[in-house]
Amino acid sequence: GSFAAHLARLLAWFMDVNRNMRNGDVLNVVYERLDNEDQFKVLQLTYKSGYLKKTLDANFYKGDGMKYGGYFDRNGKEIAKRIAEKQTPIAEYIEITSLPGDFRKGRRGHSGTDFKAEVGTPIRASFEGRVRRTSWNVRANGYCIELDHPREGVITRYLHLSRVLVKRGQYVKQGEVIAESGNTGRTFAPHLHYEVRSRDKKKTVYNPFDFKYHKSYHRNISSYEVKEFQAVVSAYDALLQDNGVGVKIQAG
Ligand SMILES: [Zn+2]
Repeated sequence: GSFAAHLARLLAWFMDVNRNMRNGDVLNVVYERLDNEDQFKVLQLTYKSGYLKKTLDANFYKGDGMKYGGYFDRNGKEIAKRIAEKQTPIAEYIEITSLPGDFRKGRRGHSGTDFKAEVGTPIRASFEGRVRRTSWNVRANGYCIELDHPREGVITRYLHLSRVLVKRGQYVKQGEVIAESGNTGRTFAPHLHYEVRSRDKKKTVYNPFDFKYHKSYHRNISSYEVKEFQAVVSAYDALLQDNGVGVKIQAG
């Protein structure tokens, strides 16, 4: 996605970007230009918030045992939340690029959570249940799965898959591999679109990070890596002093 969208997504873990930005807030970004790509990678973001009366920061770091890195605050706590391992639809993803309610797809906003992931990443049933249907509205959804979970009172949907490994009516256990992620249907890049909705006619969309049956947590830098992490953060700080990009917010 665009540079601005990426920053907005990071900031959204801290605060309601639309409501809580204030005149005089200061945003600083350290980034690098990626080779062979007309894209940027944000290494560090610091945001001095008048509303929250503190400075927030996010530092990119890839720790031991992490397939992909993430953004962590100075204490080594990851900014983004993750769904608990036992019930996450996808364990290995690059980043979350969109949450329910993000205004991107129509007036009602986005109905799911988008996990940017390499094609072929295992997709798992987040709860036990039964396969309600597969690969409907393929032009938009690509190969896809809908599961029914009477106990939790929800259905879950998994879109843009490369392979569907279950059949309609099939019972699946929690954590069972049901598909491989892909880039089918209407997408801009490989990702899993994961949706949680109520089983009733309202089909209320739930944010998985604000839904009682989904447990979530923040990753932490392991204690033996803290020194290395601190060194990386110091290097980012030095880069910012030398040649970072700073923006003073003028809201409204
Ligand atoms: Zn989506």
